Amino acid sequence: MVTPQLTVQLSDGHRIPQLGLGVWQASQYEARHAVELAIETGYRHVDTASIYGNEEGVGEGIRNASVPREQVFLTTKIWNDAQGRENTAKAIDASLTRLKVDYVDLLLIHWPAPSKDKYVETWKALIAAQQAGKARSIGVSNFNPEHLHRLIGETGVSPVLNQVELHPFLQQQYLRKHHASLGIATQSWSPLGQGSALTHSGIVGIAQKHGRTPAQVIIRWHMELGLIAIPKSITPSRIRENLDVFNFSLDAADLASIEKMNTGTRLGPDPASFG
Ligand code: NAD
Repeated sequence: MVTPQLTVQLSDGHRIPQLGLGVWQASQYEARHAVELAIETGYRHVDTASIYGNEEGVGEGIRNASVPREQVFLTTKIWNDAQGRENTAKAIDASLTRLKVDYVDLLLIHWPAPSKDKYVETWKALIAAQQAGKARSIGVSNFNPEHLHRLIGETGVSPVLNQVELHPFLQQQYLRKHHASLGIATQSWSPLGQGSALTHSGIVGIAQKHGRTPAQVIIRWHMELGLIAIPKSITPSRIRENLDVFNFSLDAADLASIEKMNTGTRLGPDPASFG
């Protein structure tokens, strides 16, 4: 069993394990089994969202595992249709009820949905939830720099983290620099490019060189860049494989070669127009 020892300190003082399990597109049943197995394997971080429709399964998987709930870093997110102060307050309580937990470790606004123009009010509901002990840390997902600046400017409270699409084909250098200047941690969603980066010949070559798998090379790349990654799998062997990245390193040539794979290609929607 390999346990990830690495954590990243957030600006509010809490620590987040650098590697977690994503459960988008997992059913309740699949999420329950994947989460339980992942925790038994050594994961201490699970990423879900109300829109994934599997919060009950995630909560059950955490309860079934032989690790106290306090040792598992749990994230959920507020979906676009629940934006606005009152709707968000209700959505937070509904997520806690489905997960059967008193608090989540991290609560995120899933998308800024700028056309709704409600993300500042939504952020105020997250601030209130944190003050009420329902979320240890609060952050955002898919926010562009202008959305971040508006939140901070209007509330004086900075998100601790921004979870964005980030993989070898979309490396987000500009956003990462921006985050660093604001003290915001960068979390990578679709860290494997939804599987598409696994067959890139450059990744396959690096994997062969190190006697590792393509998934391990890409996850290791996220770790070496100081990113927080949440690769998704419900397959036991892959769940184990994806965690086994803390006993090898990429060299400077590997990092330079992956840097060149950036094409700026998005797999998901553009945050400037989505929602
Ligand atoms: P991913 O990049 O994690 O790729 C997952 C896919 O890669 C799996 O379905 C599987 O087919 C394959 N895979 C995983 N491990 C493998 C291995 N070892 N070998 C071979 N194939 C492997 O894609 P994702 O699920 O889109 O993203 C990960 C997580 O990020 C999600 O589950 C979710 O928690 C989060 N996410 C967040 C947002 C957001 O808007 N905030 C959007 C998308 C995803």
